[in-house]
Amino acid sequence: MKKLEEVLKDWEAVIGLEIHAELTTLETKMFCGCKLEFGADPNTHTCPVCLGLPGALPVPNKAAIESIVLAGLATNCDIEKRSMFYRKNYMYPDMAKNFQTTQGPVAFCMRGHLDLHVDGKAASERIDLEGLEPGDQGTGTAGNVTKTEDGYIAHVGITRIHMEEDAGKMVHVGGGEGRIAGATHSLVDYNRAGTPLIELVTEPELRTPEEARLFMQKLRQIYLAIGISDCSMEEGSLRCDGNVSLRRRGETKFGTKTELKNMNSFKNLHDGLAYEICRQAEVLEEGGIIYQETRHWDPSAKRTIVMRVKETADDYRLFPEPDLAPYDLTDEWIESVRAKLPELPDQKVERFGRTFGLSAYDARQLINDPQITSFFEECMEVAGKDAAKLAKPVANLAINDVAAYLNANFGTALDQTPLTAARAIELVKLLADDAISSKQAKEVFAAVMDQDKDPAAIVEERGMKQVSDTGAIEAVVDEIIAANPDEVARYKDGNTKVIGFFVGQCMKKMRGQGNPKLINQVLAQKLDQA
Ligand code: ADP
Ligand code: ZN
Ligand code: MG
Repeated sequence: MKKLEEVLKDWEAVIGLEIHAELTTLETKMFCGCKLEFGADPNTHTCPVCLGLPGALPVPNKAAIESIVLAGLATNCDIEKRSMFYRKNYMYPDMAKNFQTTQGPVAFCMRGHLDLHVDGKAASERIDLEGLEPGDQGTGTAGNVTKTEDGYIAHVGITRIHMEEDAGKMVHVGGGEGRIAGATHSLVDYNRAGTPLIELVTEPELRTPEEARLFMQKLRQIYLAIGISDCSMEEGSLRCDGNVSLRRRGETKFGTKTELKNMNSFKNLHDGLAYEICRQAEVLEEGGIIYQETRHWDPSAKRTIVMRVKETADDYRLFPEPDLAPYDLTDEWIESVRAKLPELPDQKVERFGRTFGLSAYDARQLINDPQITSFFEECMEVAGKDAAKLAKPVANLAINDVAAYLNANFGTALDQTPLTAARAIELVKLLADDAISSKQAKEVFAAVMDQDKDPAAIVEERGMKQVSDTGAIEAVVDEIIAANPDEVARYKDGNTKVIGFFVGQCMKKMRGQGNPKLINQVLAQKLDQA
């Protein structure tokens, strides 16, 4: 199979995402008063409504509707003042009603969009923007893209966000790995049946696996900011299906798509789509055809396998739910929800730039993880009048060291670690004042986490204080230059690399405590005069 970058030279990928989020922060289910609780004893949170008993009538959960309207407002959707619920009929024991309550052609939220900032390496998958200058808009099928200094902004349409409910959970006993094949019997737990879900559908306007990943990341940040879901991809409260098709570059008609399931991490989403693009290209280049089917991404085998051939809407006999009246929303109520919108990720990035002078790139790194974001904000508070001056080094510490620490200690809450905002500021100040080198700062950071001590105490204990006294450094430099006339001659002959030798000698003399920046400066100056 060809590599993605090879394939993308001849083919344009067309990608649309369908993203389900469980509204985990609500108290009760979508159409009844049963409690939402993960991990409760089986079938302890059920009632006639969510068990589908005859005559039981559903009542929509107003808090869930507020959540979906918040999601719509935060993703630039129009909020429909009148929408309806529909029945999607299917027979399977995980849904006792034999239908899922969902929405029809008009959902609560329609016609939204998100702007994706794609830069650095992520932008390189997009090869149709060559020749564009910053500020230029793409042409043809790249019309939704604006070129920036180091990448581009993609304006991605959101078709809709609709409300629906989850099914119960089945456990198959006696078969291999809990599968139904070979099982002797199956158990069903209806606690999850009726859990409020929202499904967001994008327009087929994404063009690379990186754009798909960034869309998902941005949506997750937004949902976390508005507090409607815990958005755990591992536990499945945020799930994504990726639809993808190919067309020859220059072609405007869409090709046949396949739908990928099981993209339960950002990496899986990217890699699954990348694989599927390469697979489709191979089939098409060999003269084969793509079938509209659902495929499963297997990250360990690194391939996708067919799950089923696509069912159509007709198979579900979608029809209006007779037990629920059309749902009306007033302007007043919608405005009251809008007033609850917190600061959204894009606004945060803008504020970090305006208030602290951070680049948009750094600011976006900071908001990837809410823990890192609030840590940064706390540090800026502690920094007080030095906030703008220390913002960049604090951002570096947060994006690099702190993020790496959280990665290595997965599941650790940052506020349970020895790193307080006060300690972080102390560390960053030591670095900013040239009291320690950046290499030493890494060592101090590790020691803070390890020994639960203040940075200053560690620096003291380990005798790390960096010498930044120009007089002392000049004396050492003079001595080293005098002792190595041959090397000085080589430098004079144009071999500037020997400066590394001199820095090494000075450092050795100063037992590693000389400020390397200053040593370099003084050396360059003195060697040129020597
Ligand atoms: P279906 O009826 O098969 O569910 P939809 O029209 O509802 O298809 O679209 C589902 C998702 O697939 C949307 O995110 C949409 O943007 C995307 N999509 C539609 N057509 C294509 C295509 N040809 N290639 C890639 N994605 C597509
Ligand atoms: Zn119930
Ligand atoms: Mg669909």
